[in-house]
Amino acid sequence: MRIDVVSLFPDMIAALCKGGVVARAIERGVVRLKTWNPRDYATGSYAAVDDRPYGGGSGMVMMIEPVVKAIRAARAEHQGSCVTVYMTPQGKPLTQETVNRLAGFDGLVVLAGRYEGIDERIVDLEVEEECSLGDYVISGGELAAMVLADAVARQCGDVLGNAESARCESFMSGLLDWPHYTRPAEYEGLRVPEILFSGDHRKIRQWRIEQSVARTLEKRPDLLERRRLSAEEQALLEGYLERKSTESKNESDFGN
Ligand code: SAH
Repeated sequence: MRIDVVSLFPDMIAALCKGGVVARAIERGVVRLKTWNPRDYATGSYAAVDDRPYGGGSGMVMMIEPVVKAIRAARAEHQGSCVTVYMTPQGKPLTQETVNRLAGFDGLVVLAGRYEGIDERIVDLEVEEECSLGDYVISGGELAAMVLADAVARQCGDVLGNAESARCESFMSGLLDWPHYTRPAEYEGLRVPEILFSGDHRKIRQWRIEQSVARTLEKRPDLLERRRLSAEEQALLEGYLERKSTESKNESDFGN
């Protein structure tokens, strides 16, 4: 996977190479990351990359020529399948499904905007997809591009060192992840669930599935509207709900 980020602040993007999953992916040669600064393609006596908006109003707009040239220079280095993505609050909110699909390309060119945004004709000419971090506005596309690069890199090859851990994570299966615990076994009276000490791998697996389904229902019921539960998941969920209702009944009996 080759990821090229077009940005006026390449130093921000470079932070991805300093540690963590993306740095590891780069070291292993699974991911290649390169930045392109529109400033290097600016012309005119001031080498401007932004200008005042036509029609008036506040703020500045990223100019078409330096951005288009930077995108085209990046695209020219791609062999194989490639898609140009603009990070924008007007795009489709980024989901694991989109990340997985984008990770299937050989390369991505990711455009980070600044100021009031970019000249709309850049979208007309060069952009194939628009992705948003969510329904809020941040001041630049760099953080958004870094989020996308990190999420995509995790899906490339065996970057996590353990392909299994990516598969079990939240959203990969349309469910939230189960809860995790590590030492100590008890902290301020809070004990790690007993089942995890049992050594019974079948039971532990079932408990994890149960927890996954139950917490998806509790925290993100909207995810379950788009996901059919398997017979096993359904049975484990029913068992969980039954247990909970007995527990709360016992508690209220006790209270009386
Ligand atoms: N005026 C624009 C926002 C500009 S913010 C509008 O209202 O649509 C400047 C840049 O930050 C954008 O060009 C975009 O690249 C980035 N950005 C801001 N919010 C974002 C979000 N939620 N997701 C992805 N990128 C975002």
